[in-house]
Amino acid sequence: MVTLPHDPTYDRDIEILVRAYKKAIRDISNELSRLELTDMSRANSQAALAEVAKTLASLNDESAEWVKAYIPKAATDGVVQAIIGLGVAETVDEAAKIAKFNRLNREFVATAIADTQADLLAVTQNIDRKVRIAVRQATADAMRANLAKGINGRRTISRDILANMRNSLGEAVNTGIIDAAGRRWKPEAYVEMVTRTKMAQTHREVTMNEALGRGAMYGRISRHGAKDACANYEGMIVKLTPDAPGNYRYVGDLPRREIFHPRCRHTITPVRDPLNAI
Ligand SMILES: [Zn+2]
Repeated sequence: MVTLPHDPTYDRDIEILVRAYKKAIRDISNELSRLELTDMSRANSQAALAEVAKTLASLNDESAEWVKAYIPKAATDGVVQAIIGLGVAETVDEAAKIAKFNRLNREFVATAIADTQADLLAVTQNIDRKVRIAVRQATADAMRANLAKGINGRRTISRDILANMRNSLGEAVNTGIIDAAGRRWKPEAYVEMVTRTKMAQTHREVTMNEALGRGAMYGRISRHGAKDACANYEGMIVKLTPDAPGNYRYVGDLPRREIFHPRCRHTITPVRDPLNAI
């Protein structure tokens, strides 16, 4: 059996994207911390928001490019895994040379790219919205405090109010995003989770589509000594299509809470004949 060159975790690839988000968030925080809160005007808050919008727009471009490059990379690895698993090629190099996307996979990859881009866009849209609200609130607070100071004779906005304003501006940048299961994630943690999950899902789906395209109707779930609920599925033979004969579970029916959950690293190797599978 040929071993694949790496466990497809894509750590380094994902790190590139996570770093871009961290940097953008840091830039936005710096921009907001430069705001002169005691003398806040609509003009300087508008200028700050324009800078924030620019930072987010370039982050959106960078992340769209990343998705366009790396989702197909995971997909190609998925085809290679299928080709090697079925013994069509002996080495990864040889498999990579003949690896191409069948029609189903071309469609799958296009959808995976669009979905991932949409998920990432939701992160920057969330930051944009929260920052706008916080800056508008800070501007209103500052104007109100300045109005009051004319009445009560205080020179500056009180330290408490300033601290509060700084605090809400800081939180706005780091506001989490809430996933479908109701869990709250920090932006960069969410980006890491979404991309890791999509890369692994792409790898698996593409492997299965390639396997079915080559007439293999079963697959084996990889093992890496998982400690979570996935442990019960390691090495399991599954059907890749519900119509396949034999008493095996259909991969699409496995509970997503237990296997192929967010951040799951399990892959599938195609199997032609489950009775003769090692
Ligand atoms: Zn897993």
